[in-house]
Amino acid sequence: MAVTLATPLARVLGPKTATGMAEQLGLHTVLDLLRHYPRRYATRGEQADLADVQVGDRVTVLAQIRSVTTRPMRNRRGSLTEVVVGDGSGKMKLVFFNHRHGQLKPNAWGMFAGTVGEYRGEKQFAHPDMHLLDPDGDDTDWARALVPIYPASKDVSSWVIQKSVKLLLGAGGGFGELVEDPLPEEIRARHGLLPLAAALLDIHRPTTSDDVERAAQRLKWDEALTLQLTLAARRRAAALEPGTARPRKPGGLLDAVDAALPFALTEGQREVGEELAAELDRDQPMHRLLQGEVGSGKTVVALRAMAQVVDAGGQAALLAPTEVLAAQHARGIRALLGPLGRAGELDGDPAGTRVTLLTGSLKAAARREARAEVAEGRAGIVVGTHALLQEGVEFADLGLVVVDEQHRFGVEQRDALRAKGNRPPHVLVMTATPIPRTVAMTVYGDLETSTLRQLPSGRGGVSSSVVPVREKPTWLDRAWERLREEVGAGRQAYVVCPRIGDLPGDEPGDADGAPPEEDGRSDRRPPLAVLDVAEALRAGPLAGLRLDVLHGRMTPEEKDGVMRAFAAGETQVLVATTVVEVGVDVPNATVMVVMDADRFGVSQLHQLRGRVARGAHAGLCLLVTEAPSASPTGERLAAVASTSDGFELARLDLETRREGDVLGAAQSGRRSGIKLLSLLEDEALIAEARTEAWALLSTDRGLADHPGLAAEVAALASDERAEWLEKA
Ligand code: ADP
Ligand code: MG
Repeated sequence: MAVTLATPLARVLGPKTATGMAEQLGLHTVLDLLRHYPRRYATRGEQADLADVQVGDRVTVLAQIRSVTTRPMRNRRGSLTEVVVGDGSGKMKLVFFNHRHGQLKPNAWGMFAGTVGEYRGEKQFAHPDMHLLDPDGDDTDWARALVPIYPASKDVSSWVIQKSVKLLLGAGGGFGELVEDPLPEEIRARHGLLPLAAALLDIHRPTTSDDVERAAQRLKWDEALTLQLTLAARRRAAALEPGTARPRKPGGLLDAVDAALPFALTEGQREVGEELAAELDRDQPMHRLLQGEVGSGKTVVALRAMAQVVDAGGQAALLAPTEVLAAQHARGIRALLGPLGRAGELDGDPAGTRVTLLTGSLKAAARREARAEVAEGRAGIVVGTHALLQEGVEFADLGLVVVDEQHRFGVEQRDALRAKGNRPPHVLVMTATPIPRTVAMTVYGDLETSTLRQLPSGRGGVSSSVVPVREKPTWLDRAWERLREEVGAGRQAYVVCPRIGDLPGDEPGDADGAPPEEDGRSDRRPPLAVLDVAEALRAGPLAGLRLDVLHGRMTPEEKDGVMRAFAAGETQVLVATTVVEVGVDVPNATVMVVMDADRFGVSQLHQLRGRVARGAHAGLCLLVTEAPSASPTGERLAAVASTSDGFELARLDLETRREGDVLGAAQSGRRSGIKLLSLLEDEALIAEARTEAWALLSTDRGLADHPGLAAEVAALASDERAEWLEKA
């Protein structure tokens, strides 16, 4: 039987193993299995391995049997066998009921796999799967210094995978021929990379950790290059689409906007503005990402681009992630444009245009009217939420789509909007979450980027502190006093909580983006809730202040009403969930108190803090937490408090969150094809792969001479796996 990389595993492995691999690990072909790399490598007598395992972990450990005792059970029939195993530093107990196998002997080494349980405060495995190693036999894996430990599943243990891989690698000595290397020779030579067959051999059966490193380096290249080729191809395809040029016209809306601005543009805003103006003037659609610190003034940059498009006879759509934000944008733009934004109304300027808000909460009649304005082209500027994407919303001539706060919108949604133009419109995506360069090169690799680094001058800045309530209980009282002082001086404040409150359907849980239970504290109380905290504050430390609540379970009208009252200064303190996280702009607010700050991710905290750095007054951000200062959580919060450099924090975020979260929900390693590549550590490699990808695609023949690469790209692109690219 000729085995190739495409051969189904069912033809080379036993049916039970093949089925388990397919159903539980998603491995179907020989290549899938060979690309299922060890998670780590165990060495005999490995230090601190057993000491590290946590209750609840499903783990495989390599350890030596220290003692075996069997005794009858006290309350039931049958016997209980207790086996103590150790690996140098740690010890663990294995228990078996009615164990009849004689192989468990002191001094024998074995691999034991199971879920770590606890009995009377001691870690133990009950009935682990096990594989005893034979020190005398020709157990060649045992002879190796490094034993691969694979990501395993319920029915497919690490050593079954190990044996199956071994079978394939040993296939008649012809393994080298079995594996065709998709990577062009020149690229391999240029970057000193192993051939694929050698890399696969070394990753699965290394002798030294250098072997592993060199193998991984090569295999990471496969991942990075395929990814970059896919992105480069998408970008090239987009560049070939026909678009409509929207040149700048003097004396129109843009000039009116510039004249109406109550401030001078920053240098960054001017530069990016020029960049956009020039790109809108081309008949290829723009695809640009504008990233800029919270408060750097992206909105006005976008508005100026929209005005240019309106002046050129097109329509511009601004898509916001929430109704609160959409309403705020519409209000802000209308206020700025004055009569120029009310064309067709009594006091409107006929030379102007209309600003139309289109959200899901509009009543039927209002929605019909809004849709008609959009369809007939009376609305030059359309602001909305997802409702804009719905069927039935037609544009007369959509020229520019601006997506605010990208991380809530996927590419499908961008595409849905783009499809509403007669020709693909220009697209500007804005994000306030600074993106580490590697993420920009991967997740947003199909967009050009512009960055606003500078904040408008005259900002007071925010100072942040952690309030560790367990260690310093009085600091919380002091925090409320500070808040009262600010309010007394005419300022306003936010108090943010991770949860809404005790109504049905409000599952206690962590806020978005919070890291997993890194301190292993599974006994935490439920997170603090807006409704409870508001009540406690009204009755206690903030009694007498005008306080209101804002959360996602309110109707859009209610939310809008609360935001208006807050923006108008009628409400002094807003107790809210993270609905205030994104984009909310009330320059008079100067205090932000985040309750249970440990429940939020780094970027989220940075976003929240951005709400109080928006005016001339100095801001104050207090991160209240029960986490000990010396814990990883405490240190993470201290890091957030110590810097306001969003790029540094984005990096910290990447370190503390699982990469999958950063890349998007669909990015589990299995589906993305990304297994070894690390966005944190492989920046240089990703950049090199990007250069190679562009070079390959910019030749006339493209991938024609590299069928292996073309096949990998096609597989990634056609596969549902490509989805994660789009769900950033
Ligand atoms: P973000 O980039 O976070 O979306 P915004 O666009 O909401 O920031 O701008 C934040 C605030 O700064 C707004 O109140 C806006 O009016 C103001 N702003 C924008 N540009 C300038 C500038 N050049 N000078 C002073 N204030 C500005
Ligand atoms: Mg914004």
